Parts: sequence; C-alpha cells; structure tokens
Amino acid sequence: MALQVRVLGGSAAAISWARSGCLLVNDHIALDSGGLASQLGLSEQVSVDHVLLTHAHLDHIGELAFLVDNVMTARAAALKIWAPGAVLGRVREHLFNDQLWPDFSQIRIGSHPVIEFCPLDSRAELILDGLRIRWAETSHPVPSVGYLVEDAGGAFLYTGDTGPTEAVWALAGEAAALRAVFVETAFPNRLQELALASGHLTPALLCGELEKLGAGDAVINVMHVKPVYYDEIARELQALSRPWRIVAGGEKILLRQ
Ligand SMILES: [Zn+2]
Ligand SMILES: [Zn+2]
Repeated sequence: MALQVRVLGGSAAAISWARSGCLLVNDHIALDSGGLASQLGLSEQVSVDHVLLTHAHLDHIGELAFLVDNVMTARAAALKIWAPGAVLGRVREHLFNDQLWPDFSQIRIGSHPVIEFCPLDSRAELILDGLRIRWAETSHPVPSVGYLVEDAGGAFLYTGDTGPTEAVWALAGEAAALRAVFVETAFPNRLQELALASGHLTPALLCGELEKLGAGDAVINVMHVKPVYYDEIARELQALSRPWRIVAGGEKILLRQ
C-alpha cells in the first residue's frame, strides 16, 4: 500500500487561498481538521474513519464540527477521534458540549454513536489501516502532541504547533526511513519573543530544531505560516540547509509507492 499525504490545509489560518492545518493520510486518517470539511467532497468526507488531533486550538479542530455533521447518517460505524485525554477533554467540554455544537458521542445512528472519543494515554502506539502511529509531547500553551506515522517502507513526522521542543524530535529519530517532516513556522525572526511566548517557531528557531533531527534527507514541509508574514518567512527560510517547501494546501505528497 502506498503512503500518501494529502495536504488539505497547510496554513495557520483560513483565508481565500489556504486553510489551517490538516493532513489526510491514505484517504482514511486525518491529522487535525483544517480544511477537512471545506476541501473535501461528501463521499471523501464519509471515507474519513479516524481523526487524530494534536491539540484543541480552534484552527486544528474547527472543521471537525462540520465534517461530523455532514457524514453523521452516511457512515456505517462511528468516526473515531483520537488524542491524549487532556486534548479530548477540551474538545468535549468546549465544542461537542450540547451548547456550542451537539454532543455527537451521545447521538446514535442505528447501533453506533456518530463519534467515538478514543484517548491515547494508555497506549504506546496505534495501528490504523496498517500504519504504525506514535506520538510525543510538543511545547505549546495547551496540551499538545506531534505524530510519527510509519509503514514498512517510510515515515513522516507532523509536529502540529510547537515552540522549541525535544521529545517529538527524539521520536522522529526512531523512524527507520523518515521521508518528510511537516513542521510549523508561524512567525518571522523579528517576532521571536512572541513566537516563544505563544509556543511557535520562527525560521531561525526552526534551524535550531532541525539540528535535533540528525542526518537524513527528509524533506521539510513548512506549515502554519501566518498569512500576514508569508513573504517575510519565505525569505528567511532560505537559511535552511535542508530541502524545504512551504505547503499551502492541495498538495498530494506520495511518500512511498
Ligand atoms: Zn495551537
Ligand atoms: Zn495552530
């Protein structure tokens, strides 16, 4: 089976030319939810079986609300939402709370609930659709993780939102064949203080983070660039010594045939 990542959103915001972060893996597994509803047709949305969340900020969970509403009567099983318990707790309390949006985990269609919350805490890893998925904490003002997704021939890392951090880079080092890194860079270098205070990276901070990645030829896919700083950040990323690109959304990246 191929390992394909479709970037539904690569930005830090919803704007006419981009959506916030979402990677769709092999059509069935989504990492975060930016663009997960607005960038997919109905049958494609119905095919999403699992959504893994890095953290509960709105740019990462917002379109999950609309996906669930779109597919609720069209699926044969619950849509599974995976994240550490501390992340799921926030999603339940502040989004699917019967106030802001219905609690779809309590609504049954036939024999199954519309969504099922699946905490990751007690697991060392997850096997979904033949992919091995592991996670590690990142540095952000709310509980957050990044994910390492692997199959027998390749792997990629998705950091979600993070400032300078350690565990997720150590996890990436455990991959046998790391083909790509999807990492955030939200602010330009002149706003480093703001980046550090809000748990984000600048191009200069990203250079430092990539030192922790060790040797290898993984392509650096830069995400979460705030639209207002796009040109400035793109210029400053020229300092990276590895192959890189800014993903905007719409790309299909085949990591392994
Ligand atoms: Zn965030
Ligand atoms: Zn974000």
